[in-house]
Amino acid sequence: MEIARRQLGENTRAVHLPPPPDPAQRPVGTPVHRTASFAFGSAAEYAAVLNDQVPGYSYSRIDNPTVDAFARAVAALEGANLSRWPAAQGFASGMAAISGVLMAFLRTGAHVVCSAAVYGGTYSLLHTLLSRFGVETSFVDIADLEAVRAAMRPATRIVYAETIANPTTAVPDLRKLADLAHNTGALLVVDSTLAPPVICRPLEHGADLVIHSATKYIGGHSDVTGGVVTGQIELISQIRSVRVDTGGSLSPDDAFLLRRGLETLPVRVRRQSATASVFAATLARHPAVLRVDYPGLGTHPQHELARRLFDAGPEGVRFGAIVTVTPFGGREAGMAFVDKLRLASVATSLGGTRTLVSHVPSTTHRQLDDRALAAAGIDPGAVRFSIGLEDSEDLISDAYVALESLGRP
Ligand SMILES: *Cc1c(COP(=O)(O)O)cnc(C)c1O
Repeated sequence: MEIARRQLGENTRAVHLPPPPDPAQRPVGTPVHRTASFAFGSAAEYAAVLNDQVPGYSYSRIDNPTVDAFARAVAALEGANLSRWPAAQGFASGMAAISGVLMAFLRTGAHVVCSAAVYGGTYSLLHTLLSRFGVETSFVDIADLEAVRAAMRPATRIVYAETIANPTTAVPDLRKLADLAHNTGALLVVDSTLAPPVICRPLEHGADLVIHSATKYIGGHSDVTGGVVTGQIELISQIRSVRVDTGGSLSPDDAFLLRRGLETLPVRVRRQSATASVFAATLARHPAVLRVDYPGLGTHPQHELARRLFDAGPEGVRFGAIVTVTPFGGREAGMAFVDKLRLASVATSLGGTRTLVSHVPSTTHRQLDDRALAAAGIDPGAVRFSIGLEDSEDLISDAYVALESLGRP
């Protein structure tokens, strides 16, 4: 229905500007579809899209092309099946993705077996919030398969693991966890935030779903929050329904930044892993250091397993950027160590271009009391480094100067 434009008033003409061109040439960069709504050709088309009878976009909380472009890209890197839609789901944060997955598959009476060293927010979600809805969780050492087996119940719906635990850097045997989960009809859900697809692809080792806080390595520049989940296609549709109903959807602008981050992910992770390996090995030799946790160290309890699970390049196996350094002297020494560092920023988050550092028990794991900390294998003095793109010599000398100032144990 064409209306003659020149008969319209100035306000109407201003609001009804000609639409942007729909180029025949494919853009090299990712177009940002910054729109809340999409216009339909007819009432019937609108109804058909809303009812998922034909593919299409209606409203950006429900689906958005830029968000889909990001989520599909993660699905491709994780080796998920792209043949049907939706292959993956983008979320406003890692916690939105995790809560979307848990709400999709848990109901009153359900049981979860979860890593005791799990991310603090996930611990709080399961322990404090979902318990109010009658979901019970057993927190176990997920690297101890006997402990996992003993915790399994007929009502267990989810076994929840992290590829590299934060900050202990424990690595679970994903294949064996998948077998244990599947024997009871449970799903293996893996938060692989600390091991993005250029380190590990959990779906190839039997996981049903893989989740990322895209805020970390995927965004990679500490300037955006987001989350993503991919895996078995039948499961992704159920997660999408929860996302649409709870509303933790990713914005198109943030999806643009996250998709751009993916393009440099391998380059960044390779360099971060190489620097972290040298950093960990050097700090482990310092006399003020009680222990260093890093999967790349020969002393790490799952070093051999990590070598099998993780990708290698010409530079060697990639063990990631997270190194946990515990000085002698407990909580006080840990906090003093952090305060003496000059290059590393004292800040939350990880996986970005700049080295970040935190005293674990007072920050990321503050939700865990002393008993829960001990059960998770976290020392009161634990200091977590997320190694960035700086020169390794500079980071090592910064840490050495800080350690020297702590005095001898
Ligand atoms: C940061 C993080 C989360 C939470 O992600 P947000 O984007 O901050 O919501 C979940 N799991 C792990 C392992 C994380 O490091």
